[in-house]
Amino acid sequence: MTTMQRPRAAIYARISRDIAGQGLGTERQVAECQALADRNGLEVVRVYVDNDISAFGGRPRPEFERMQADIRTGTVQTVVCWDTSRLLRKTRELEDFIDLCQPRNVDTLQVNGLRVDLSSSHSRAIAKQGMVYHQMESELKSERIKAQKRQAAASGKYLGGRVPYGWRKVDTITDTLGRVRGGQIVVDDPAAALIRSGTEAIVAGRSLISVTREWADAGAIGLTGNRMNTTQVRRILLRPRNAGLSMFHGQVMGNDWPAIVPLSTFRKMEAILTSPDRPRQAESKFRYLLSGVALCYCGAYMTGFGAPERRSYRCSVHQAGGRYIRGHANRAMGPLDHYVRSVTSHYLGRSDVRAQLLKDMQRLADSERPVESADIARLVSMKQDLIRRWTRGEIDDGEWEEARQEIVNQIAALEAVTKANGGNRAVFSALATEDPGAAFLSSPVEVQREILREVFRIQLRESGPYRGTFDPETVSITLKEAMDG
Ligand SMILES: [Zn+2]
Repeated sequence: MTTMQRPRAAIYARISRDIAGQGLGTERQVAECQALADRNGLEVVRVYVDNDISAFGGRPRPEFERMQADIRTGTVQTVVCWDTSRLLRKTRELEDFIDLCQPRNVDTLQVNGLRVDLSSSHSRAIAKQGMVYHQMESELKSERIKAQKRQAAASGKYLGGRVPYGWRKVDTITDTLGRVRGGQIVVDDPAAALIRSGTEAIVAGRSLISVTREWADAGAIGLTGNRMNTTQVRRILLRPRNAGLSMFHGQVMGNDWPAIVPLSTFRKMEAILTSPDRPRQAESKFRYLLSGVALCYCGAYMTGFGAPERRSYRCSVHQAGGRYIRGHANRAMGPLDHYVRSVTSHYLGRSDVRAQLLKDMQRLADSERPVESADIARLVSMKQDLIRRWTRGEIDDGEWEEARQEIVNQIAALEAVTKANGGNRAVFSALATEDPGAAFLSSPVEVQREILREVFRIQLRESGPYRGTFDPETVSITLKEAMDG
């Protein structure tokens, strides 16, 4: 009797997030399937294991495909699985599986259920019904996972999914009792260094473009595997997570995410990047010192124009019309830039001007109340305390909603205070040196632009037709009124 060939069986196991969470790993699935195969006198010729994380994600399952191919060729005569929900994820897959197995008399044994005899229409109907049930249950599970994520967010924990740029996941940690505790999120140093330097660069008055260029030079790669563009860099810099705040649906939920930048620096950078005074499009368009800074006598901004060796500034009215319009300013770029730089650097170096600028900035700084991490932490812990009392029934729904709204308002108020003041950082970084004039001249063009826009009003006078020589008399450079004080 030992010479008699036993029916050839395949074991199919699938790991997905839901069962992994219940400790039902593939090893246990396979072991139980093997025992069932033994009890039924089957010879297991092959074990197929797929690792797919979401039960209804519809991801390809290479091993499942391979097993179907082996069923087709007759290599496999019986399938053993934990239950059909491991084997098949959708009712449509069941239909296909029936079409494959029924003509070949291939049955399916389940550890966790009955034999699925596909030759019997009654058994097929039961299998289909079971599948509908599993599909529904899986959808419920995904609801449950969402609820768990919400809860995790409330306590500042990692929500799962792709780890955001700037952090990495340290895989499974085992505690002292040998229990697996899941992953932990830690700061990813090279990426975090870029986020930190990018945030500081914005605060120091540099542009998003230069930060983007720096990231590209450092080899930073976005989700698509390419270098990041300004929009992506901006999005990354503006994530509250960078300052350790975990968010859920736009609300600050906690502050125990590992921070990359101090909250106060983050808020300054955020205020600058989101300031309505800094149109993003214009920011990326202007590469020349006085584009969008100097004014034509008509009041419109000048923009840079032309081939490198003969570049000029023209009133933006020209650009808008696409052809030359008489009666608007037009200057060669080189001489005008040179003149403006020498005049303004001289101004910035003057002790009276410098003192006035510093005084103005001090006044702005005094009116600013930095949002400290402690403020947010206090509010978040108030909120959690509130949740506890509400779940214990110590406060009713009305009181809960009232208190919750109060906390939300307080957080919003804290945010609003810091939004008010975003500018002046570039000016300050130049002035806070021994020689502000020299500091201005050695700054990158974008910082010089910030300073000029913040401190001076530069306007071109009517000059008649351009005669090829630069006339300083046709340029007016004054300190802005706010700074004149
Ligand atoms: Zn004009």
